[in-house]
Amino acid sequence: MRKICRKALPKAEAGKLRTEQTNANAKLAGKTLDVQKEWKRARQNKPLKVAFDTLLGMAGNRERCMYCGDSQGTDIEHFWPKNTYPKKMFRWNNLLLGCTACGRDHKGTRFPLDAGKKPLLIDPTKDDPWLFLDFDPMTGNFSARYDALGNPAPKGAKTVEVLALDRREALASGHQKAYKHISKLISEAAATSTADATTLISGLKEVDEYGILGWCFRGAGINEPPMSSLRSAHPAIWAKCVKAFKNS
Ligand SMILES: [Zn+2]
Repeated sequence: MRKICRKALPKAEAGKLRTEQTNANAKLAGKTLDVQKEWKRARQNKPLKVAFDTLLGMAGNRERCMYCGDSQGTDIEHFWPKNTYPKKMFRWNNLLLGCTACGRDHKGTRFPLDAGKKPLLIDPTKDDPWLFLDFDPMTGNFSARYDALGNPAPKGAKTVEVLALDRREALASGHQKAYKHISKLISEAAATSTADATTLISGLKEVDEYGILGWCFRGAGINEPPMSSLRSAHPAIWAKCVKAFKNS
């Protein structure tokens, strides 16, 4: 899972989405809101088309789903599900790019909250996924990150459970392949006295299809080889990589 930087919508479309939300709220108060119908109608209009294009731009060159990073992002996904939380259905901050498998098959209307009513799902536009997730290079699966006391991060555990990030074979094998390339480049740099940060960084960017560099350079992976070897062999290169991948 990749950290995503949310862009601003153009002013005109942002204003129109706010109006859509105001109108939806009024219908909700009058008990006449049909969420599906309202969304279907609005989805044909320019503000949501611009929102979709903006989400595609935020998702990077490959335009992948913001949850799994694997399949093509095909539609607007509501982080807070629109049927349960219609007051957020047109809120720009609630809109992500999702694939059918994540949005429909796995997440659906599931949206676990903690005792303080805060989401127990990672929002990649607000959270750093690698504070909550861990990666296993052997299996290619994601799991919850454990804290120093040995407790799994609740948000990581629920995200893995809801999105089935430990039960999707194609996803795991994609992670394994990407990590193999990443690991090779880092090992080679760690073993070479003439290693060059710029070359390493551009090579890593090219092979990081799933945002695993976040795990390598700021997540639990920093203490695993070959990352630990790079850090001790070339501290300056390590620091440049950490900086380069702080938003990966
Ligand atoms: Zn997905």
